Amino acid sequence: MLKLRLNSEKRAILFFLILISNFIFSNDVKAQNKGKISTVVIDAGHGGKDPGAVGKKAKEKDITLSVAKMTGDYIKQHCPDVKVIYTRSNDTFVSLLRRAQIANEKNADLFISIHCNANASTQPCGVETFVMGEHRNVANLEVAKLENAAIMYEENAQEDYNNFNPNSTEAYIMLNFFQSEYKNASLTFAEHIQNQLVNRVGRKDRGVQQAGFLVLYKTAMPSVLVEIGFLSNPAEENFLNSKDGQTYIASALFRAFRDYKNAYEKENVTEGPAYENNNSNKIVDANKVIYKVQIESRSKKVDNPSQHYKGLNAIDFYEHNGQYKYTAGAFESKKEADEYCKDIKTKGYASAFVVAFKNGIRL
Ligand SMILES: [Zn+2]
Repeated sequence: MLKLRLNSEKRAILFFLILISNFIFSNDVKAQNKGKISTVVIDAGHGGKDPGAVGKKAKEKDITLSVAKMTGDYIKQHCPDVKVIYTRSNDTFVSLLRRAQIANEKNADLFISIHCNANASTQPCGVETFVMGEHRNVANLEVAKLENAAIMYEENAQEDYNNFNPNSTEAYIMLNFFQSEYKNASLTFAEHIQNQLVNRVGRKDRGVQQAGFLVLYKTAMPSVLVEIGFLSNPAEENFLNSKDGQTYIASALFRAFRDYKNAYEKENVTEGPAYENNNSNKIVDANKVIYKVQIESRSKKVDNPSQHYKGLNAIDFYEHNGQYKYTAGAFESKKEADEYCKDIKTKGYASAFVVAFKNGIRL
């Protein structure tokens, strides 16, 4: 008995050390895109031989894929400066480890894993967003067990997860040691998601939660796992299985992303030169003059710039004397900017004019 316990403890410690070393290793790569959210990885839960939760009509893997793609489309459409990467874009099986690896390899700034919940009872409903952390109640642990059970479909699970048993409560004790340096950012992103799903889409609020998810613990960036509703609840299954429902959820996820991005980038604006002097190509970029078309000046920030200035490209703003000056377009040649300016004037912005920037500062 004692021997057995020691063994499992040793194994747990080994697992913990591997976990920590992977984590430290993956941190170096990060620092590069400081200040900008330029790559997001969208992870559609399950897929292929793993259907995930199965309702009366719908399978989790189909709903997550559809919502993931719609969310990515919205981001591409409204945030053209962001690269959207999917861990899967069709009905294929991808291991949990591989999903995290994709995010790390692509040096992503944000990771969002989309899932549907299920319960033995048809009663529970609502949305909850998880970050990696210590579960505070049995219900949260059960969600993690359910999602982590996906590794049962994996061929190298024993090796890849160091004999982690997704059904054993003890296994989660080691995961609880995990402290991500991105935890606060993950919590912030999770709050944005809950806020959108609850206040804008009217879903029942189950809150921001924490538990040990294998798909989250190896990602080296702020990461969340959102449970967009219960397939075991008939009304919610109908909603999630409908085009409208999926559109509402995806647009909420997009707005949460946009709000997080805007807040993050505002907070991380670097003073002085926009680029660090560690790469010769970037120094050239930093010295380049960029021409934009100023469309208007406002005392208050626009809530949803891409919506507000619909039909215009690359909306941006800079602050000057307490005013928010909105610009469209970004060109290396003044001639192109002049042409775009003419075009914009015909769209109702008669006083538009071209402004030049260097190092993000208006000349
Ligand atoms: Zn799932």
